[in-house]
Amino acid sequence: MVRNMQLRVSLKEVEEVKEEKGVLQLKIAHRLGLSVTEFNFKILRKSIDARKPTIYFNYKLAVYKKGEALDKTEYKFDYRDVSKAKPIHIIGFGPAGMWAALRCLELGYKPIVFERGKNVQDRRRDLKAINQDHVVGEDSNYCFGEGGAGTYSDGKLYTRSLKRGDVRRIFESLVHHGAKEDILIDAHPHIGTNKLPKIVQNMRETILKYGGEVHFNTRVTDFIIKNNRIVSVILQNQNEVPVTRVVLATGHSARDIFELLHKKKITLEAKSFAMGVRVEHPQEIIDNIQYHCSGQRNELLPAASYSLVEQVKGRGVYSFCMCPGGFIVPAATAPGEVVVNGMSPSKRNNQFANSGIVVEINVNQDIPKYERFEALKGLEYQKDLERLAFTSGGRSQTAPAQRLTDFVEGRISNDLNPTSYQPGLKSAPLHSLLPKLIGSRLRAGFKVFGKKMHGYYTAEANIVGVESRTSSPVTIPRNKNLEHIEIRGLFPCGEGGGYAGGIVSAAMDGERCAEAAAAGI
Ligand code: FAD
Repeated sequence: MVRNMQLRVSLKEVEEVKEEKGVLQLKIAHRLGLSVTEFNFKILRKSIDARKPTIYFNYKLAVYKKGEALDKTEYKFDYRDVSKAKPIHIIGFGPAGMWAALRCLELGYKPIVFERGKNVQDRRRDLKAINQDHVVGEDSNYCFGEGGAGTYSDGKLYTRSLKRGDVRRIFESLVHHGAKEDILIDAHPHIGTNKLPKIVQNMRETILKYGGEVHFNTRVTDFIIKNNRIVSVILQNQNEVPVTRVVLATGHSARDIFELLHKKKITLEAKSFAMGVRVEHPQEIIDNIQYHCSGQRNELLPAASYSLVEQVKGRGVYSFCMCPGGFIVPAATAPGEVVVNGMSPSKRNNQFANSGIVVEINVNQDIPKYERFEALKGLEYQKDLERLAFTSGGRSQTAPAQRLTDFVEGRISNDLNPTSYQPGLKSAPLHSLLPKLIGSRLRAGFKVFGKKMHGYYTAEANIVGVESRTSSPVTIPRNKNLEHIEIRGLFPCGEGGGYAGGIVSAAMDGERCAEAAAAGI
């Protein structure tokens, strides 16, 4: 290799040469005083800098002498035949459960997974039923089923985790199972909901190929605990399965699991979380703000995103799970509630940009009326807000909505903007319906966001209620061995336990819990 180097290329330069590779070749040749025939190169990292009117692409590159072999990325996962190995039981097949199962294959243990939902193909039909018939299946929906909440999602792979080495491993296993290599170089990697189901299916096939088991339509309904040790789990068909190690990766929407643990007096803790609304703008407005342009964005640029945060009266108000070129989806997990979230296809080519805008809720200070629910106080508050959205939306999956400016200025919207939300919107006075704790901070926050991004505060945007499932309202406490603080053999894992907030962090926690469970056998 000649060297690693950083390059900055303006959008105009790429346009002139017509292709990325060509302009990079010329720039490298110029920088190193070589002819373009003397070297090859590989992109290690790519990001966009759109802070100023001149937009740049920043690259990190590895340059090689012609004839020299380029470093090949090899994805080596040491999966072993575990068909006859000791089992580790995993409840839930979202990112945490999937990566726990894959890690078991490497560690030489047989993963046996119980998942309440259906496989990705069958799950699709239930999503159609939610969108078109407003029927929410309690075991199969946008949160439950193969791949968990991560399958029909945006597939953003951004994580704040500093353990970059582990993040890379998760990305490599995604590539190993069919994701594009781009995710290894993009500064803001993203897969897209159209590509995720196949990747998730490939992961399941790896687990089965090496002797693991994945049981769909298999909800866990009870745990048998003797002498502070989990000894078996009860399935919905009443079968009792003896267990020694259980990774509990049921996600933040498995309210029946939280309620079951609470009823059994297994220690849980209320956890602070965030709630609010989803805001939807025409993508062109966001593009024009972020790329300093008017009309359609340059075709070399992806749909623009944003990230906003402001402190309002002692609580953070911030954008969450921003989906450029995406759709708002109905993410409820039971009848009688309305919950919205966002997803986008790999090309991010839908005409809308949506994002959660949420307010931090401090469970120990902000919701005193819910104290009687003890560790489940945040969960009960969350439920109430979702029921409010259901009734104010018209008692179906139609969601309550308001034009952004009407919400902030406190008046009902006579009509709403077009939306990507398939079940439809109903005008509702969210400014007065939302608890003051959330509503007043959101209104102040949106005003500030309009100053930070000129054009963001507009009547052309809708706000849609409610964005309530940002993270778990409960922690299932665990010790330094990742075992529940009281129950031996039980490993609370992923977002449901309060140990992750997104696909990648849930995946990493899944791996860690599999390692911890294996270490104890
Ligand atoms: P989950 O994904 O919630 O998986 C839990 C699994 O357990 C589910 O499959 C469920 O069916 C199963 N289960 C529950 N109870 C039981 C039971 N009793 N018995 C058996 N099985 C059970 N994150 C990102 O990082 N990027 C994104 O772009 C992104 N977009 C999202 C878009 C949407 C629409 C949604 C809903 C979420 C999105 N997220 C995104 C969040 C992300 O999906 C979650 O953080 C992640 O899936 C959490 O992983 P998990 O495995 O801990 O839990």
